[in-house]
Parts: sequence; structure tokens; C-alpha cells
Amino acid sequence: MKAEQNRTQPNPRFYREAEQALKRLGRQVSRKVKGSHNWKKAVKKHLRIQRQRKDHAVKLARCVVMSNDFIALEDLSVRNMKRNRHLSESISDVGWTQFRHWVDDYGKVFGKVVVAVNPAYTSQICSNCGRAVRKDLKMRRHICGCGVDIDRNFNAAVNILKAGLRMAERGRKLPKRL
Ligand SMILES: [Zn+2]
Repeated sequence: MKAEQNRTQPNPRFYREAEQALKRLGRQVSRKVKGSHNWKKAVKKHLRIQRQRKDHAVKLARCVVMSNDFIALEDLSVRNMKRNRHLSESISDVGWTQFRHWVDDYGKVFGKVVVAVNPAYTSQICSNCGRAVRKDLKMRRHICGCGVDIDRNFNAAVNILKAGLRMAERGRKLPKRL
């Protein structure tokens, strides 16, 4: 998820912790005798974490839409996310899908433009000079010969924003849906 004006919202630790808790609670639920007091307790906990995850996606989406007139998002399919263990650790497929859905909805409600951008190469290309700077997921900074030294996510965010603006310009008729 990327927003304009250099604002990047770090994927909160909450997600990762909530995901682990959900998995753990899911296992606990399945171990308990169905219908028992302990089973009910485990189910309740499980539902609470699920609700927190949803609330977070909704709040974050609302905040992003309210504070930007133009929003370009990575068009990450759930399948691609799953293939990448590092990424799927930091954001759950469910969390991302929920977030996308709410950004789309709030965008319509508040009359903001939301476009989905093909994320290919957005992390590798220099957002300043356009040169390709190869890096693996362990490399957290984007350092280019042109003198740029920035956080890799910020570099990708600028590329996604640029691509989104190009899309919007090319189309003129702006896409109505993601
Ligand atoms: Zn460069």
C-alpha cells in the first residue's frame, strides 16, 4: 500500500502478531471438545482477533483515502503474495484483500481516484533516474549510482505513484474500479 506525499504506513507489527495469534487460536479451538466451556472461550478469542484485523484494515483504508486525492496501490494478487514467504509474513492475504476492498469503497464514497498498478520492477527501478538496481528482499535500502540512498519501500512507493499517475494520464477516463 502506498500513499502520496512521502507517507508510507509501515505495516504494523499488529498484523504479524495477530496472524500468529489467529493460527495458535485456531489450533486451540480444534483441540478443544466442541461445545465445551474452553472451546467457547477459544472461539471467542479467535473472533476477537479477526475483528481487530478487520477494524485495522478499515481504519487504515479510511485514513489513506481521506488524506490523499490520488491513491496508487500495488496490484498484488493473493496468489503472488503466497509465493513470497517474506511478504506473506508481513501482511496477511486476508488483511491485504480487506484493505484493498475498503480503499476502493472509501475512494468511491469520498470521490478519490484509486488505481491499481502492476508492481513488477517497482522495487528494482530507481525512482530518481530510472536505472535498474538489483536487490533481494534482505536489502532494505535502495542505493543508486545517481546518489539516491532511500528506504526500499519508499523507492517502490514513488515508482508506484509515478506509474499510477501515468496510467491516469494515459486513460484520462479514470478507472472506476480497481
Ligand atoms: Zn538512480
